Amino acid sequence: MQNLLDFDVEQLTAWFAEHGEKPFRARQVLRWIYKTGESDFDAMSDLAVSLRDKLKQIACVQAPKVVREELSDDGTRKWLLDVGTGNAVETVFIPEADRGTLCVSTQAGCALDCAFCSTGKQGFNRNLSTAEIIGQLWWANRQLGKDSDGNWQISNVVLMGMGEPLLNFDNTVSALRLMLDDRAYGLSRRRVTVSTSGIVPAIDRLREECPVALAVSLHAPNDNLRDVLVPINQKYPLKELLAACQRYLEKAPRDFITFEYVLLDGVNDSEQQARELVRLVRDVPCKFNLIPFNPFPLTQYRRSRPDAIQRFRDVLMQADIVTTTRKTRGEDIAAACGQLAGQVRDKTRRILQRSVGAF
Ligand code: SAH
Ligand code: SF4
Repeated sequence: MQNLLDFDVEQLTAWFAEHGEKPFRARQVLRWIYKTGESDFDAMSDLAVSLRDKLKQIACVQAPKVVREELSDDGTRKWLLDVGTGNAVETVFIPEADRGTLCVSTQAGCALDCAFCSTGKQGFNRNLSTAEIIGQLWWANRQLGKDSDGNWQISNVVLMGMGEPLLNFDNTVSALRLMLDDRAYGLSRRRVTVSTSGIVPAIDRLREECPVALAVSLHAPNDNLRDVLVPINQKYPLKELLAACQRYLEKAPRDFITFEYVLLDGVNDSEQQARELVRLVRDVPCKFNLIPFNPFPLTQYRRSRPDAIQRFRDVLMQADIVTTTRKTRGEDIAAACGQLAGQVRDKTRRILQRSVGAF
């Protein structure tokens, strides 16, 4: 059975051609899947009955299975999705006054082992398929439905769930294309954000192949500290990372990079470190998103104190860097940044070498 969620628009059209069907048939099916949220070929009423019968035999529209749903007091929703062989990943919907954001996972676990991240602590199991990535949006849209104007409630997507999107490059880009393509979801490039810990060659590839808004997880003002907090820094140090950010801006849909910075009490949150950070990013048009650390069991870190967060922010603002402090959402259901854990069978180290080595 071919899962049609595994194809971007070009691939679906090619697959239809292989089966003797015209491109407009592919477009009709795309409309049903993504604009209506339909998975039942029998309900696709403008397709010839013979085509419906053929599709039923050889294809399906299948999102990952949802094993649990949780609803936070603040309206945040979290779904735990079964991705087979004992692994589960998480998807989070964050409603706000002017938008609805879905936070999507791209890998079961993560090989990069950032010191403060609960996903990283579980090790890496495997890359999600295109169907498993776009299936999170497809399924959440179906659950949440449309607003009074007939638009899906999800207006923004951030790849900030479990995993490093740029180490699952091809499947991530196919899923991004479906988010952007007018024949599927048609989201603006500015409303789709990839968050990366800084895989330099893959940032360059994304710029060429599918530029969307970019968030880079910085977390430290110098290589010594970043080597510890974000170990991939040992391979792609700050100087190279910031140069890649500058190159990215040549083609990016926004004219700034968002730098994410988790504030850890007594580790990276002093005023002196904030000043060092200002000097570090001097040449990169950017905004900062400060994330108060979200604790999880067995972590050695603590969230910075509110006055430290305020002072850190003031230093950046005084240097004319637009800085927001991320509101923590869905904490009561462990849906906040870096708390996503799912259940992942750890296959870790060897795969770390392989997946990082591929770039
Ligand atoms: N792998 C990508 C995207 C997923 S993580 C990346 O690292 O950017 C999304 C964001 O959550 C990153 O900025 C990450 O550093 C941050 N994060 C991880 N653990 C966290 C925690 N415990 N508290 C707050 N933010 C965390
Ligand atoms: Fe992986 Fe991102 Fe967590 Fe680092 S912060 S371990 S890159 S998911």
